Formats: sequence, C-alpha cells, structure tokens
Amino acid sequence: MCGIIGYIGKKQAAPVLLDGLKRLEYRGYDSAGISVIGENGSRKIFTLKATGKVAILEEKISKQNIIGNIGIAHTRWATHGKPCDKNCHPHLDCSGNISVVHNGIIENYRQLKNQLIKNGHHFSSETDSEIVAHLIEEFCKKMDFREAVLQSLKLLKGTYGLAILHKDHPAQMIVARLGSPLLLGVGKEEFIVASDACAIVQYTDKVVYLEDGEVALITSEGFEVMNIKNKQIEKKVSTLDWDMEQAQKNGLPHFMLKETFEQPESVKNAMRGRISKADGMARLGGLRDVEKKLKNINRIIIVSCGTSYYAGLVGEYMLEEYAGIPVEVEYASEFRYRKPILNRKTAVIAISQSGETADTLAAILEAKNKGALTLGIINTVGSTIARETEAGVYNHAGPEMGVASTKAFTSQLTILTLLTVFLGRQREMSLVTGQRILKELEKIPAQIETILKQGKEIKKIALKYKNYADFLYMGRKYNFPIAMEGALKIKEIAYVHCAGYPSGEMKHGPIALIDKNFPSLFVVPKDSVYEKNISGMQEIKARGGKIIAIATVGDKEIKKQANDVIFIPKTLEMLTPLLSVIPLQLLAYYVGVSKGYDVDKPRNLAKSVTVE
Ligand code: GLU
Repeated sequence: MCGIIGYIGKKQAAPVLLDGLKRLEYRGYDSAGISVIGENGSRKIFTLKATGKVAILEEKISKQNIIGNIGIAHTRWATHGKPCDKNCHPHLDCSGNISVVHNGIIENYRQLKNQLIKNGHHFSSETDSEIVAHLIEEFCKKMDFREAVLQSLKLLKGTYGLAILHKDHPAQMIVARLGSPLLLGVGKEEFIVASDACAIVQYTDKVVYLEDGEVALITSEGFEVMNIKNKQIEKKVSTLDWDMEQAQKNGLPHFMLKETFEQPESVKNAMRGRISKADGMARLGGLRDVEKKLKNINRIIIVSCGTSYYAGLVGEYMLEEYAGIPVEVEYASEFRYRKPILNRKTAVIAISQSGETADTLAAILEAKNKGALTLGIINTVGSTIARETEAGVYNHAGPEMGVASTKAFTSQLTILTLLTVFLGRQREMSLVTGQRILKELEKIPAQIETILKQGKEIKKIALKYKNYADFLYMGRKYNFPIAMEGALKIKEIAYVHCAGYPSGEMKHGPIALIDKNFPSLFVVPKDSVYEKNISGMQEIKARGGKIIAIATVGDKEIKKQANDVIFIPKTLEMLTPLLSVIPLQLLAYYVGVSKGYDVDKPRNLAKSVTVE
C-alpha cells in the first residue's frame, strides 16, 4: 500500500534511503523504518523504526553511526496491526539476520504464522508481513538464501512488493513483486529499488520494471531477474522521462486521475482473501468477534458524511434486499444531535475513509452510549473511529490523496457488498445467491477497466457540456445514490451547481427548471427500473432538455432518448453502482480540469473533516 526503497552500491546507504523515504512521503503513511547491513565493528543489521513522520526516524538515525552500503527502508500504511513502532517495517526473523520490508497484504498469513509458531518462531509484531522473514529463516535451515526466498514466495497468497536482506549475504539484496509495484533503478555501480519512480529519478533515469511474479537478485555489480521457479528472465532497461512530480502521480497529471485509474486494483484489494465461493460466504476477519451478535441484530443504522453517506445509501438497498434487515442511513451530523431509538439489537455502522471524521465519530460515540453494537467501514487502520467501534472491516484502498473521494468510495461499496453477503448468509440468503453475488463481484475490477478505457470519449462529452452552469443528475433505486454522488463530485471538483435527485421525484418539482440551457444526466442501466427511467427521460426531452445517459452496453434504444451516452458493462443490479460511478468521476474530473481548477485540492475543502 505504501513505500519501499532499497540501496546497494558504493555510497553510504542510510542517507540515500532517508532521502528516498522523504520523496515517498507525499503518498501518506503512518510510520517509517530502515535496515542497513552495518560494517562498523562486527557485521550486523542495524534497524531503526519510528511511528509518525520520517523526520522522527531521521532524528533517531542522526544519533547513530550507521555505516554500510546496503539497506532497505519502508513507509507503512497499516493494513494488519495498528501503526506503532513494533508493527513498523522492516521486520526481522528470530535471529535478527534477515530483514524484510513489505508492501501489500499476505492473505494467508494467519495460517503460516500458526505453523511457524509451532516450529518455534517468535513474532514481535501483529503484521501479516513479519511471517516473510520467519519463513525465509525456516527455509534457510535447509537451503541457501536465494532458494529459501523462492520457496517462501511460493507459499504466499495475496500481494507483495518485497525487499529482503540477509546479514550473511552482505553483498546481496533480493526483491520480489506480486500485485504491488516495484522498479529497479540502474545507476553507475549502484542500484536503487523503489515502489515508486519518484524515489529513483534523482539518481538515474535507467529503470527496469519488475512484473508480477518476478524476483530480482541484486549486487553492486549487477542483477539477475527470475521467476519463483528460478527460471531466468531477460529484462530490458527503459529510460524514465518523468520529473519528480510526474513520477509521484505515476505519469498522470493529478492524484484524482491516478486514484480513479487505481480502482480496478483497490476494488480487488477490498475483496482480497474475503471471498469463499464454495459456501457463498464473505470472510470478514474484523467481524469474527461479533459474529454471534450480528446474527441477532434486527436493525442497522449507517452513519456517515459526504461521499461515504452515498455509499451507505447503496448499502441500504443491498442489505434490505439481500440480507432482509431494515436499514436507515443517516447524516452523522444529524444523528448525533437527535434522539435516536437504539438498543442491543441495533448495529450502527460508521463509514469513513479517514476514520477521523468528527461528526461520524460523535455519532458512533452516541450510539455506543446507547448500547448499540458499533461497527466501522474504514480505510485508515488504527484511526479513531476504527478504535472506537467494537469491530469493523478495513477498506484496504491505500492512501487517497485527492480531496474528492474516488477509490475509497468504490472500496466502500465493495465492503458493503461483502457485508450484505455475510449478513444475508447468516440469515436466509441461499448458497446459490451468495455464490452468484460473489462471482459477479469478482468480475467488477475488469469491468471498471473497460470503462476507464473510454476516458477519451468521456472527456469529449465533458468538454461539450463544460459551459453549462447547472445540471440535474438522476437515477433510481441502486443508482439514485450514484446520481447524488456524481452530483457531489462535479460540485466539488468543477464548482458546477448540480442537483442529484431520484428520477421519480423529478416531476414533483425540479422539472420546472428544465429548458435547453439546463442539461440532465440519467444513470439508466438495464435494471428493474429501466422503463421508469426512460419515461423520465422522455419528459425531459419533451421540454427541450439535453440528456447524457449512463447505460448498459448493448442498449440500442437509449441513443433515441439521450444526446450522449456512456456505456457500462452488464452486472447484477445491486453491483451497477460500482460501475456507473466511474464515468461520473471522470466527467467531474475533465470538466474541472478544463476550467483550470486544482482538482486535487478543491477550494474550501479538506480531505479529512476533523471539525464539526
Ligand atoms: N500489510 C503490511 C502491514 O500492515 C504492509 C502495509 C503497507 O503496504 O504499507 O504492515
């Protein structure tokens, strides 16, 4: 989720690593650490860790005399175990001879950890990552370092970017990649490994991009790349023509666009290791301790703000339809001041990207006081709401830098889908229905990809409509909240006045606004309310209003009703929001950019709203 840097060469490693960590800081992180194979006196791995900013680590390093030309470092965005010194990377094996930094999630770490504990290993952290160091230690009993790493990788399920050192192999570093970026900068008699080009560009523009399943063994003289079966792979050295700022955004002009394009991956991460197809069930580790209580609840209240509120509304439709539990969704800022009727059979779920949203926190504390079961759907591990709730599910979307939420929203929808399956299967949902939802959910990342590929066409539509001052966004049932979210996005990013509405409500008022200067957008997939939406579109058309439609691929009729159409793939009705929101994010983005606005930091907005 966060940053890795490794150095091997003639320079002192510590200052290079520290510099790299500073360049990775823009990504957001909760702690940082460094390991250097030190040669002052006897050979040893020097490891220093600090919770909080890199500056704190720097202060610690300045008090030590770390001499050594090979080292690895890490900025952590916690997924397993709260942010604190002991969970901070690098992680060492029992002997302190092996040091590992890891980005990503090891899905089967519990299983491996239990086995390693049986074999006598002692663990110092709560992370999933630490098992990698111990696994390698275990294999090193029977084989050499390189083979031990390869054997260990074969056992790992999940995602990783890894950089590994061994005290007894002081001239080698091994790195590996699966689903988490890693590239190798090739300098003069030196190599810099990083998860992000921005930590490399100041040293060299020659890079080797590692692909998933590839492992590199690096010395100061050279490197070789292999797969985990030890088959050699020829790699080409590419030239990087990005400057520092472009590198931070992966070559894209804004964080918002980068994060919009990360959604196939972040949605995958939200469901990773949580789908059990055989029994049509979602495995949500964070809810294990409250499973029994959840079986007995008969009411859910979702409290949240902004974009998370709209995710909650989609959750309401899903949970009521498939889990059969009555759900209310409340603005946290309202809930905290009214007199909610709550009891032990009510679960109050907070949804918040940062886990620090002041209103949502206050709502959760109020619910706790009244005896409700409190749960969190939170992106930031160890955040205040995560700590204050009794149980919860982390999004695993990684840090979100753009102020307007994109990937956090779709990861919230993914978690709500899993929660629906979980609660539904605890009740009356059939095996087949559970399996069907999970199967379709697994297709979503690839389907999002196909929408992102239409970026150019979406941009054209954005430019065509960019000068209109007002918009009406409409949808029905599952896509009513998406119309609301799309409207919020274009308000936030492009400062366009846009009202989100349930399309059935249009005739009760807003239709009065419609004329040729007031365009509408309809989210109109082929679902159970398709015909109703079409009637609404006809009413707009009859009044001379222009229409953009978000419709299902293969819908031939829609072109007759709308002036412009963006197509999304077919999925289950309950999952359409995960697809239909993508074009709305891009529309807002392109309109905002075309007007010259700072889409990553819209005026008057803050990323984490920690005030009332
Ligand atoms: N899953 C690991 C942890 O929680 C790695 C997190 C990261 O990628 O920063 O420590």
